[in-house]
Amino acid sequence: MKDVSILVIDDEPNNYDVVDALLDKSINYQLYYAANGEAALSSLDSIKPDLILLDIMMPGMSGIETCKKIKSLRIWKNIPIIIVTALTEKQNLTLCLSAGASDYICKPINSIELNARVKSMLRIRFQYQQLEAFNARLEEIVEERTTQLAKRIYIDELTQLPSQFSIQRELAHRLNSKILPLALIIFDCDQFKRIESSFGKIISNKLRVAISERLKSYLNQSDLFSRSAEDEFCLLLNSIHSKNSLIKKIQEIQNLFEHPFNIGEFKIFMTACIGATLIKSPDLNTNTVLQQASTAMYLAKSKGIGNYEIFESQMYQSILNRVTLESAIQKALKHNEFAVYYQPIVDLNTGKVDCLEALARWPHPKRGMISPSEFIPCMEMTGLIISFGMLILRNACQQLSLLNKQGWDSLSISVNLSAKQFEYPNLLSEIDDILLQTQINPSCLSLEITESVVMEDPINAISIIQELRSRQIQISLDDFGTGYSSLAYIHRFPVNSLKIDRTFIENVELHTSECYVLDTMIELGKKLGISVIVEGIESESQLEYLCKLGCKYGQGYLFSKPIPSSEIEILLPSVNTHYVENQSISK
Ligand code: C2E
Ligand code: MG
Ligand code: MG
Repeated sequence: MKDVSILVIDDEPNNYDVVDALLDKSINYQLYYAANGEAALSSLDSIKPDLILLDIMMPGMSGIETCKKIKSLRIWKNIPIIIVTALTEKQNLTLCLSAGASDYICKPINSIELNARVKSMLRIRFQYQQLEAFNARLEEIVEERTTQLAKRIYIDELTQLPSQFSIQRELAHRLNSKILPLALIIFDCDQFKRIESSFGKIISNKLRVAISERLKSYLNQSDLFSRSAEDEFCLLLNSIHSKNSLIKKIQEIQNLFEHPFNIGEFKIFMTACIGATLIKSPDLNTNTVLQQASTAMYLAKSKGIGNYEIFESQMYQSILNRVTLESAIQKALKHNEFAVYYQPIVDLNTGKVDCLEALARWPHPKRGMISPSEFIPCMEMTGLIISFGMLILRNACQQLSLLNKQGWDSLSISVNLSAKQFEYPNLLSEIDDILLQTQINPSCLSLEITESVVMEDPINAISIIQELRSRQIQISLDDFGTGYSSLAYIHRFPVNSLKIDRTFIENVELHTSECYVLDTMIELGKKLGISVIVEGIESESQLEYLCKLGCKYGQGYLFSKPIPSSEIEILLPSVNTHYVENQSISK
């Protein structure tokens, strides 16, 4: 088998023989012949020449025309053509070259010239073929990679759901095509980081897949469902026409999470926050729609786990307020503007101040006193609460140490601890440090936690509570009854006292159902050997009612509002006196 195919196009068959006779046999060629341009053109595909020797002067289709025709064919445009001509006029040679010929040989053909030109053209031809093959492979690879990349961009590898880009593309399409109304729902799993750190990457990835499958099984075919971020999913629905039906849909989605996910040997409960927006007008662009759902999500998250919000335009204002508040807090922290106030917790039997609850205060230079209910949630969202909480704790312990030195040695101090602080890995070591520095008796320090701390991460909460208890630190469950109403599980948590929220005492004179709950909670405390403190006592009748129920401790404006540290020394004896006087009047 010959390696190289050379086609000779010449009306004179003798010229074919001349070429054959003169060509160097080491070229290992196969020579083909065509008597005219038409014959050559029709034989190209079967011969597949590597080189063409083309006579310029032919009857019918001329060499120049033949050359042009061959070069106009896509697959033959790169074939080298050597023109064989008896003419030496420069003008004709120029015509040949501009018709696409690569070179020329003059007749009568000289053997050295023929072999030199043929060999050099073949060399170029093979180099070109190699380049072509390389390019083709390169193109294949690029195409493969582009498909892979497109798949990665548009399909989430873990869940095989469409990605964030898919939803953006689809959203743009629906807005442009006015397929309205549409609802965009962002679904963000709560505290996935905690799950990941407790169960590891493999289990948490399996959980992500299980979540996606549970959601997918619930959706309609026309709904687009994507994984938009690590623990976030996006739903684009077009069957929602009103806010009410959107709320219904959201609640149905939330109900899907009532049951745990069985991942291997674990049963994992999961909640999620949902932000949604309902779009009826085509005037919005993709980014605005996504922004609206994210804004709603941000507010839902700020309200705590398992919440949802539907976008309304005033939400932008509330986010702006939050951002403004955030920077004002940063500034106030820098300028040491915060203060600690103290409110007594009183022994209802003796009227003595048993403990002082430390409550943070922000005396704002322009706005006056800002309530902690305003700045604490913001600090919790930004994480500032961790250092702030420690600052309050340090201040409160220093205050107790001072009071101890002044002779108030049976007093305790109570400090609120946020759920976020429970996630802080250095919590225990920093508390140890404060105890060491202030030299207070750890059993005179009480830390108030809320039910949410215990519910969000019970395993971590129990272990930290046990660590604190092993240091003799007291634990109070604050705002008891307002959260998950956890009478059923309370015995599992080693707390020393329950602080019953003031909503249960508010209407005690009206004998509402809350009063019976209050009775039950006080009884429960007694049975479990846990002290009960009732918050928010404002009137003598409330106090009387609590004394009748045998409640041991109370806190409220009746005894004192929270006061600055400078007034503690006046407060301590006066609460006692007021109590003794009033108790003797009521008797
Ligand atoms: P809390 O820990 O349940 O504190 C009791 C709240 O009830 C205080 O509100 C107190 O001023 C108020 N209060 C006490 N007695 C009465 C009463 O008789 N009537 C009425 N209407 N209210 C009464 P405050 O100081 O505004 O604090 C609100 C919440 O902010 C606190 O609730 C606590 O959850 C949080 N907080 C305050 N300081 C801190 C802190 O340093 N760290 C953390 N994490 N949270 C804090
Ligand atoms: Mg408290
Ligand atoms: Mg409370």
